[in-house]
Amino acid sequence: PRELTADVVVVGAGPAGLNAARHLAAAGHDVVVLEARDRVGGRTWTDERGGVTLEIGGQWVSPDQTELLGLLDELGMETYPRYRDGENVHVGADGVRRRYRGDTFPVPDSTAKEIARLTELVDDLVAAVGATEPWAHPRARELDTISFGDWLRRQSDDEEACTTIALFIAGAMLTKPAHAFSTLQAVLMAASAGSFTNLTDECFILDRRVVGGMQSVSERLAAELGDRVHLATPVRTVRHGDGGVVVESDRVTVRAQRVVVAVPPPLFSRISYDPPLPRRQHQMHQHLSMGLVIKVHATYARPFWRHDGLSGTGFGTSTLVQEVYDNTIHGDDRGTLVAFVADEKADAVFALPEAERRAEILASIAQFLGEQALEPIAYYESDWASEEWTRGAYAASFDLGGLARYGADQRTPVGRIHWACSDLAAEGYQHVDGALRSGRAAAADITAALA
Ligand code: FAD
Repeated sequence: PRELTADVVVVGAGPAGLNAARHLAAAGHDVVVLEARDRVGGRTWTDERGGVTLEIGGQWVSPDQTELLGLLDELGMETYPRYRDGENVHVGADGVRRRYRGDTFPVPDSTAKEIARLTELVDDLVAAVGATEPWAHPRARELDTISFGDWLRRQSDDEEACTTIALFIAGAMLTKPAHAFSTLQAVLMAASAGSFTNLTDECFILDRRVVGGMQSVSERLAAELGDRVHLATPVRTVRHGDGGVVVESDRVTVRAQRVVVAVPPPLFSRISYDPPLPRRQHQMHQHLSMGLVIKVHATYARPFWRHDGLSGTGFGTSTLVQEVYDNTIHGDDRGTLVAFVADEKADAVFALPEAERRAEILASIAQFLGEQALEPIAYYESDWASEEWTRGAYAASFDLGGLARYGADQRTPVGRIHWACSDLAAEGYQHVDGALRSGRAAAADITAALA
């Protein structure tokens, strides 16, 4: 392997690693970025499939994501709003399709009231606990030892209200079943976006997209760093001690003062550490796991739903596809839909042969938007769980009890090893915005340590 020296090595060229490198370079440090893949951007990836440019990974920006919005501004990049004119569609627990406008689902009155009451309850908890240190709240352990699904059912016996509230955090965000994560974890997810109400408002949370694609943010940061970014260079070993760090890959070995490990937490242990990490990290890292969601794109000659007065937005808790949106690319005449199939429903369709899976998913989209959805001119399923350097989607969260038990230590450096990732963020948790924040924070810690 080639031998290099630097002040700081960054492992991973996703938004977290690249923003750490950018801030370190701006502070005058010599930095090298080592990336396993042959591209930058990590879980953001804008690429062509079947003649259509798609956001295979992260894409949306919400108004509270000021770190990302600020960077876009600085880079002179533009955003555009998601198409949302017209009526939405809801498929109820009864399997019936109903068109509606506004924020309230067309469910029975008693269920609508329960949804409103539960929303207020969760919003109150979120406001009390906050995103920065949820583990420090006096009720942290109590809230972390009951699953969000169980907690909801203790608050209400309206099953449709419970599954609706659960969907916004379970299927739609953590992409795990509501029995698999705690109420405290749910509160963090909502707090990281400002409130639970923000998560239920698709006009807020899925507000805008980046012209040119979200991956281009990382490409721009990488271009600034030039040949300091090494692609196709998976890091295998980090040796660390009083004298510094030696970061080893098959192609290059870098000697430096510090290292930022900016990869998804379930991949921390794909790297060997010499000496091994402390007991606390060995334990903690085993309690963080990735969710699972299939992001499906279907493109049509025209956005047929718009002509039918529909926005393209659809929600259903009992349907295979839990959410569908108009995802037409900026300036494209064709219409593109994006649909999501999460957690156990994703397991079920991944067990099917490809053609059957596609037929089932399209049939589910057609439940919302009509028969024309069955005949796309292009169709693509993002499969992040099969990617060696990601292993799930969208991101990692703690199992029951993990956030209260370990959260306070998740970003604590181990000697000269620092950690950064959207999955360790407070504001912008599990989003590009949080990735950028965590990268900047790691850079600031290192700059202070090296001063
Ligand atoms: P990553 O993007 O995962 O980057 C980590 C990098 O480390 C990768 O490039 C990886 O290849 C590399 N790596 C791993 N191991 C090694 C190793 N041993 N050596 C060297 N390199 C290594 N966010 C939003 O804000 N809005 C959205 O709409 C949105 N939608 C999403 C949809 C999907 C389908 C997915 C998958 C994610 C979505 N996200 C969204 C989340 C967002 O993409 C992530 O939060 C963000 O990319 C995380 O950035 P990161 O740098 O922390 O991690």
